[in-house]
Amino acid sequence: MWKRTGEVFEFCELTLPPLEFTTYALWTDLSLELKRWLDARRLDFLGGCHGAAHAVMAVLPLFIMCDRVDLGTECPSPLQHRARPLRFIVYDQQPGGVGICAAAFTIARTLYRAALQLVEDCACEDGCPSCIHDLHCREFNYVLDKAATKAILRFALGMSLADLPVRPPTKHAAAASAASDSLLL
Ligand SMILES: [Zn+2]
Ligand SMILES: [Zn+2]
Repeated sequence: MWKRTGEVFEFCELTLPPLEFTTYALWTDLSLELKRWLDARRLDFLGGCHGAAHAVMAVLPLFIMCDRVDLGTECPSPLQHRARPLRFIVYDQQPGGVGICAAAFTIARTLYRAALQLVEDCACEDGCPSCIHDLHCREFNYVLDKAATKAILRFALGMSLADLPVRPPTKHAAAASAASDSLLL
């Protein structure tokens, strides 16, 4: 891309070898029905999974001695073409794990309740650094949806989703929802 004009003069494929390591994780599988339910209300499923993971990472150090940078999650990119499972996940950033997520598994409901409270008590409209934004997000907090985050955390806790909003239609939301189906495993 030309720096001065922003004109794109060439496209080329870039491939990097996958970054792989074995570690421990805490995750919750979500259902296709939940995704369809969110799609019907124009809430962004991937944005909700991403927000839920960020919120869990934000509260986890309050319960288990660790630092936020000891934890990782899957941060979706708006440009991603990789299929991904229906889930939100937090993992030990240290290869082999250092016991954080193994301990988190034993208090998962407490963590999810605290994460939901963090999101619900925050007065912001679309997510902010006090709730679902994360300073270390690899995708710059771009794909996030606060309303979907609440729905996903409530689903994980077996709570009612009845009073969640229905977002008015926009061109962007309809296209994003249709496109996102092909990105799920
Ligand atoms: Zn907020
Ligand atoms: Zn992220």
